[in-house]
Amino acid sequence: MKLCRFDLDRLGVIDGDDVIDVLAVLDALPATRWAREPGDPVVARLDALCEAIGGIVEGAPRRARGEVRLAAPVATPTKIIGAPVNYHAHLAEARADRDLHQGRTVHPIDEIGCFLKANSALAGHGDTVALPVDGTRVDPEAEVAVIIGAPARNVRAVDAHRHVAGYALALDISVRGKQDRSMRKSCDGFAVLGPWLVTPDELPDVDAIPFALEVGGERRQAADTSMLIRSVGELVEMCSAFYTLWPGDVIMTGTPAGVAPVVAGDVATVSSPVLGSLSVTFR
Ligand code: MN
Repeated sequence: MKLCRFDLDRLGVIDGDDVIDVLAVLDALPATRWAREPGDPVVARLDALCEAIGGIVEGAPRRARGEVRLAAPVATPTKIIGAPVNYHAHLAEARADRDLHQGRTVHPIDEIGCFLKANSALAGHGDTVALPVDGTRVDPEAEVAVIIGAPARNVRAVDAHRHVAGYALALDISVRGKQDRSMRKSCDGFAVLGPWLVTPDELPDVDAIPFALEVGGERRQAADTSMLIRSVGELVEMCSAFYTLWPGDVIMTGTPAGVAPVVAGDVATVSSPVLGSLSVTFR
């Protein structure tokens, strides 16, 4: 199933060029208030909700996709995790271009592990992202994101799929400055996720998801997730050894070669034949 959050927190199913409004199934969610469990309550119940959606989808109201605003398909992650330098060709590129890492040594992911982006940086399809006023270089990194569905703690790579709700496209937008990653990758709008969540049963091979980045109509990046240095399963194992992954947590799995800066007015589009197309405009 392809699930989206649209307009003011409505839940939709993507059906071709339509969005089917299935908000009614969320009536079953508990009103948890202060006792809220960690993570995203919708993603945490995705299996039950997909079953309930199956029961109402036939007669549910439809909207044209172009008429709705698609928000990030996760509303309340406890963490947005980034994987630094997780494609061999990007590692070579980062070692060759000193600007990418401010002249510092580029360390392999196995040495430095992952980083966190602020949850407040979350943005969705069609959003406008403000560049820093000082004109520092900013690169949009096209990535495949995995969305956690069930709590994961000390999970082995081979079991990781049991903890995955689905996949989406992402832009891990990054200031190329001397700041720590947690700061320079956390500006408002710098964690773009969407256009919707695709459940694993819809994907022919979850370890070979193709995707590409275009900026201003020109292709910059193209890869598939079989080229990752550390696979989705290995990233879940690596991260869950340090902290619990909660439903709705997002792991941006890393960007391939071809990173380059954007300027105000640029439109960046990451697309995939199996995950859809996700665009933002820079201002
Ligand atoms: Mn990245």
